[in-house]
Amino acid sequence: MNYDLVIKNGRIITAHTSFTADIAIRGEQIAAIGQNLSGKREIDAAGKLVTPGAVDIHVHLEMPIGKFTSSDDFFTGTRAAALGGTTAVVDFIERQPGETMLAALADRRVLADPKVVIDYGLHMTIGPHDIAHLDEVPAAYAAGCGSFKLYMAYGLRLTDDQIFKALTAIRSVNGLPVVHAENWDVICTLIAKNLANGNTAPRFHPLSRPAIMEGEATGRIIDIAALVGTRLHIFHVTCGETAGRIAAARARGLPITGETCPQYLLITQEAYDRPGAAGALPVCAPPIRTQDSQDALWRALSKGDLQIVTTDHCPFTRAEKATGITLYDFSQIPGGVPGIETRFTAVYSQGVRRGLLTENQWVDICCTTPAKLAGFNNKGDIVVGYDADLVIFNPEKEVTLSAAFLHENVDWTLYEGMALRGWTETTISRGRVIVDDGEFVGEMGNGRFVRRRFDD
Ligand SMILES: [Zn+2]
Repeated sequence: MNYDLVIKNGRIITAHTSFTADIAIRGEQIAAIGQNLSGKREIDAAGKLVTPGAVDIHVHLEMPIGKFTSSDDFFTGTRAAALGGTTAVVDFIERQPGETMLAALADRRVLADPKVVIDYGLHMTIGPHDIAHLDEVPAAYAAGCGSFKLYMAYGLRLTDDQIFKALTAIRSVNGLPVVHAENWDVICTLIAKNLANGNTAPRFHPLSRPAIMEGEATGRIIDIAALVGTRLHIFHVTCGETAGRIAAARARGLPITGETCPQYLLITQEAYDRPGAAGALPVCAPPIRTQDSQDALWRALSKGDLQIVTTDHCPFTRAEKATGITLYDFSQIPGGVPGIETRFTAVYSQGVRRGLLTENQWVDICCTTPAKLAGFNNKGDIVVGYDADLVIFNPEKEVTLSAAFLHENVDWTLYEGMALRGWTETTISRGRVIVDDGEFVGEMGNGRFVRRRFDD
């Protein structure tokens, strides 16, 4: 039997098992897993790990926020993702006034489809102005928006009654609600108090957004979700206060999941004390917190209290970040950090190599559960018939992260100078090699919009 492509002799790591075998690809799918397979092209992966392509269900590419737009577009962002071993991402749609959800989806696809180098999906955002249009939720779901984003903070914040209505509409189509949970009223009060006292430096950013208020908002929306009878995914968990609420809900049998991100796993809030504009770079929300919070997140991942790691990749340039310092105050710094390229290695290096996670947990957290959670039904695992989205990962390669080394379209990284172990050598997207020996060889527009849905 001659296949199109065979990955030979690699140690295959899935969420549940590890074994040495060949993987054969025909067309866009995994066609066989076994010994002594041969193909038109063969890649020797001896000594390497072969994993499913990683799946990042929380990214913001060319996203307008106030007067800025996140600096990675759908090409540069998905290229950086691919170079880091990610083969599917989920970005966001925000409906403009007067537009239907379907028109907003079409607009976003016009931007993304010609540029993406890997497959992608889109979350539909439900803001306060969308509550009058919840009758459009079934059409959005049918068009492939399997998940819906709710905010409990910022201008898109929903009140509790609006959350109740939105969750009810999402539940009616069996969609997945995803939420940014923070107590906005308390945060606004603390920000105003700090600014009134002249506390305008970035280190007052985390002090204005306390962990306990992230936990409070999470607990509140979990209880509303329980009343509605829907599942719910909590975005960017930064602390034990929030992870504990999720664990307690799961212990009650509720279908609640949570994610954290590399910035919360690798950095602590001392980064906000860096002088000048450097202290503005780590500003994101919820904020990066203490070493205790970081330790709690690793424990939660290890115990399964948190299910996945995403990036919340949302880069702004150094100059854009600095405007919040020079012209305004910490509350005006465009929020968000880059990370789309480093996630898979970061969790391997700081999780597996430090003995906090097994290799199988690493794959589960970065590939399998994100795919399942987001409704990518043929991705995130190494199974015959699944999309041939695969990574050959060199577990011994040492990399020193820097903005120059990475391919994200931004002139800084939070991880400048950080040495990590393990790097993606080859990335395969639906049977096509798009990263070859660490070099991007894919093509713009070869990624596809995936209609995500849930069968049950
Ligand atoms: Zn986000």
